[in-house]
Amino acid sequence: MTNDFLAIDELLTDDQRLARDTVREFVSKEIEPHLINCYRQESFLPQDLVKKFGKLGLLGSNLTGYGLPAIDNISYGLIMRELERADSGVRSFASVQGSLVMYPIHAYGSEQQKQQWLPKLKSAQAIGCFALTEQQGGSDPANMQTQVIDQGSYYLLNGAKMWITNGSIADIAIVWARLGQQVRGFIVPCKTAGVTINRLVGKLSLRISVTSELHFADVRLPKDSILPQASGLNSALSCLTQARYGIAWGAIGAAEACFNEVLAYCKERQLFGAPLAAKQLVQSKLATMLTDISKAQLLALRLGQLKDAGRLRYPQVSMGKQSNVAMALQVARTSRDLLGANGIMDEYRTMRHMCNLETVSTYEGTNDVHLLVLGRELTGIAAY
Ligand code: FAD
Repeated sequence: MTNDFLAIDELLTDDQRLARDTVREFVSKEIEPHLINCYRQESFLPQDLVKKFGKLGLLGSNLTGYGLPAIDNISYGLIMRELERADSGVRSFASVQGSLVMYPIHAYGSEQQKQQWLPKLKSAQAIGCFALTEQQGGSDPANMQTQVIDQGSYYLLNGAKMWITNGSIADIAIVWARLGQQVRGFIVPCKTAGVTINRLVGKLSLRISVTSELHFADVRLPKDSILPQASGLNSALSCLTQARYGIAWGAIGAAEACFNEVLAYCKERQLFGAPLAAKQLVQSKLATMLTDISKAQLLALRLGQLKDAGRLRYPQVSMGKQSNVAMALQVARTSRDLLGANGIMDEYRTMRHMCNLETVSTYEGTNDVHLLVLGRELTGIAAY
């Protein structure tokens, strides 16, 4: 198998292989047929398909209790890889719902919040978004202006959030805001008076994913909307660590999709009286891509082992996110080049993946910010 050059499949359990194969079939039969049209229209997947994510247990699948699937973290990673083999926007939907909405409720919510929201989010009866980034924040989320004031019997929320995945299709937002000096998390139903959500149009990347800005003008929140166990920016960042773990796996799926497409193309395409694949420069590129993908697979697998053992640390996740996304972006760019003019057409998937990966490289901590996380780990000096 070209995508399993190092026989990593042998290291997986039967359950892990089953999870991967089930999602691979769902993706190829049910999601793939929608991708070109959704990308052209800049529209999200049809709603009935979104509900199937819930039926298949793809949302919050590595969380426990409350009827959640509680699968191991390698199975979870394999699922993210298969979803991103389709499109990074498809994986983003599931990542946000599971890691950035269900996880904070699961980790930091009250019992009542967990009972109320986790079953609905798991089945996609409710959709959520995660609102951390602000215009003046970005890589520096500590520069947060969104504010909550304690009014005694209720909280009052004011501010704005940018670049929020799932925003315009969400029923609830996990909003991070300053309460006094501390950043706290709140569950905000999106239909609450004073909440305005505008979908961003004109993205040249991640076009299938819904991205929105959220505005809060004197939004009254009940006292039980606060996530009681979340305190400080680190709670918000801990959710991102969960999502980045999924990205480290997901990016491999995008890279594999490009690689498979270009390998087949190079064998077919005749130039100078021979297949393109017969050229030394081309073989060198193909060999380098296979090697880079294989190394990324091993890295993701090791992160999964550490996570299942409860030993995964966030700088290790930074390494996985940065390295595997940079790898995927390079594979996508090389593949796009080898596809020649055909590579700019959307009947080939490579350029869609390439454009998507530009976002994946930027969101959830940019490429360089993750290198700076590792730099701090190595030197003890924060160079942000
Ligand atoms: P900036 O922080 O302005 O960075 C610009 C450049 O400066 C980058 O190259 C960066 O690496 C570099 N840079 C920054 N700081 C340093 C430094 N100290 N030293 C050297 N270089 C530096 N946010 C959410 O809260 N929820 C979401 O659901 C969400 N979804 C998103 C979906 C999409 C499609 C996109 C594009 C973004 C999304 N984001 C979301 C926001 C995302 O997390 C931010 O875009 C990201 O954190 C980077 O911030 P920024 O875009 O403001 O870039």
